[in-house]
Amino acid sequence: MEEITQKKSVEEGGLNFVEQEIVKDLEEGKNGGRLNTRFPPEPNGYLHIGHAKAIIMDFGAARKFGGTCNLRLDDTNPQKEDTEYVESIKRDIKWLGYDWEDRLFYASDYFPQLYDFAIRLIKEGKAYVDEQTSEEIAAQKGTPTEPGVNSPYRDRPVEENLELFEKMNRGDFEEGSMVLRAKIDMANGNMHFRDPIMYRIIKKPHWRTGEKWKVYPMYDFAHGQSDYFEGVTHSICTLEFVPHRPLYDYFIDLLAGPDYRPRQIEFNRLNLTYTVMSKRKLLQLVQEGLVNGWDDPRMPTLCGLRRRGYTPSSIRDFVDRIGYTKYEALNHIELLEHAVREDLNKTATRVSAVVNPVKLILTNYPEDKEETIMMENNPENPNEGKHPMPFTRELWIEREDFMENPPKKFFRLSPDKEVRLKGAYIIRCTGVKKNADGEIEEIYAEYDPDTKSGMPGSDRKVKGTLHWVSVPSAVNVEVRDYDRLFSVENPSAEECDFRELLNPDSLKVRKDVKLEPWAASMAKPEDHFQFTRLGYYTVDPDSEPGKLIFNKTIGLKDTWAKEQKKL
Ligand code: ATP
Ligand code: MG
Repeated sequence: MEEITQKKSVEEGGLNFVEQEIVKDLEEGKNGGRLNTRFPPEPNGYLHIGHAKAIIMDFGAARKFGGTCNLRLDDTNPQKEDTEYVESIKRDIKWLGYDWEDRLFYASDYFPQLYDFAIRLIKEGKAYVDEQTSEEIAAQKGTPTEPGVNSPYRDRPVEENLELFEKMNRGDFEEGSMVLRAKIDMANGNMHFRDPIMYRIIKKPHWRTGEKWKVYPMYDFAHGQSDYFEGVTHSICTLEFVPHRPLYDYFIDLLAGPDYRPRQIEFNRLNLTYTVMSKRKLLQLVQEGLVNGWDDPRMPTLCGLRRRGYTPSSIRDFVDRIGYTKYEALNHIELLEHAVREDLNKTATRVSAVVNPVKLILTNYPEDKEETIMMENNPENPNEGKHPMPFTRELWIEREDFMENPPKKFFRLSPDKEVRLKGAYIIRCTGVKKNADGEIEEIYAEYDPDTKSGMPGSDRKVKGTLHWVSVPSAVNVEVRDYDRLFSVENPSAEECDFRELLNPDSLKVRKDVKLEPWAASMAKPEDHFQFTRLGYYTVDPDSEPGKLIFNKTIGLKDTWAKEQKKL
């Protein structure tokens, strides 16, 4: 399993292969010993956990080796971009624990330089205006084994190219009627060199530059040069950019002097089971109402994971475990969940809640009596202290914790059997009351006053311990329970439309969950709790006073740790 080998290599002393390359360059004094990375998202969607892997590399390496990391918004396509996305990107990077300080840049900052560079390439006979349709251009591209065909416009005179390109930018031509192409080599083995498009006409105003431009640079003409203009030394990105690198180098060679140029290093993408990572698909889920927004707790977006209750340190831990390599892999969501569980186990306050309640009546407990039981806030950290929980004659317990005709190994409550109520007494079940449909309405039991937890002589052992909440003081809350968003491991590998693979049961809402009063009184949005015996739950930001909503972050059962033990 890839995850294990990666973790090992990091523990064995080491730096991942990207970091090793950075250290080598620094030791060799390249770029005057400067380290400047950048994270370059396109503001056309919300960041997801895949981006977190890139962010952790870019900002993390800068932090580790005394460099700086820029945030650059790659805003070269006014058709898809929006300030809503810009704001969410900034929020999510900060949440992960990183800061670009005063180094916030935009690819659109470089539009003038890129335009001037394009003019220069035209003048040098290295670019031309092509009036063919995009279909014609695509048809001439050839294949990796067959050369392409030269455009009939390829040898148009420089003066004509200059005039047409300037007119393109003035708005004299329609979108799609012509493009500016680099004149390189239609037979090159690298398809990206077959006269790549540098500029296209877009007549929609840009959210930063307004109506100034009618031509916009293609990503491949903007990206490498933006790194160069910005003084980036290490352009770290994902593997799909390997074949683009020679083209970026081609343009940069035409721009750069001998003493500085950015170096691109590529690592493998993060891909997660049971979800999709493409921004286009995530946008579709949001726009078609298949999820409740970008921050739906089932989404792999950072805002979705945050709302679900995943923590920045668990995400960083997960990325550290999967590591950075040169080959693509599918990462298991169970490992991410394991990291979340480990983190919340250390920090989440333990409280009692009953999600599927049935009433338990202790028939020998006085009706007007109330005891205060002190419950530990976190057994992992005794400094966290204790909190009070009322104990009364009527209690809520989980319906699943009772069985009338139990199988052999059922150690919870059943007729005539004993269990301990957590932190309180041992009880023995004496009977039940059913409604007309045969459903259990109330369970009766007697408590043994000599068995109060922590009291002398109370150490009689019973097999099962149940959690409970006192009926008179219980607070009703809503709990949203989540399952996998998709019902197959790798939705992107399937032939059919990915939307057909959505898990129809990925959200279950329970309205009448019983929560102990102390927890209800202190819960604030984004607070994490462990509901004893059930799992980790996080307060939803839509909660209001008197109407608490909890998202189930993750159950207690660690399928990942279990698998690892078997190996
Ligand atoms: P698209 O280009 O299709 O809009 P993208 O996910 O590549 O989507 P960008 O905004 O270009 O979006 O991504 C910004 C940076 O994040 C890039 O450097 C990219 O390599 C990196 N990145 C994107 N997805 C992942 C992923 N799944 N794992 C690791 N890094 C990623
Ligand atoms: Mg991209």
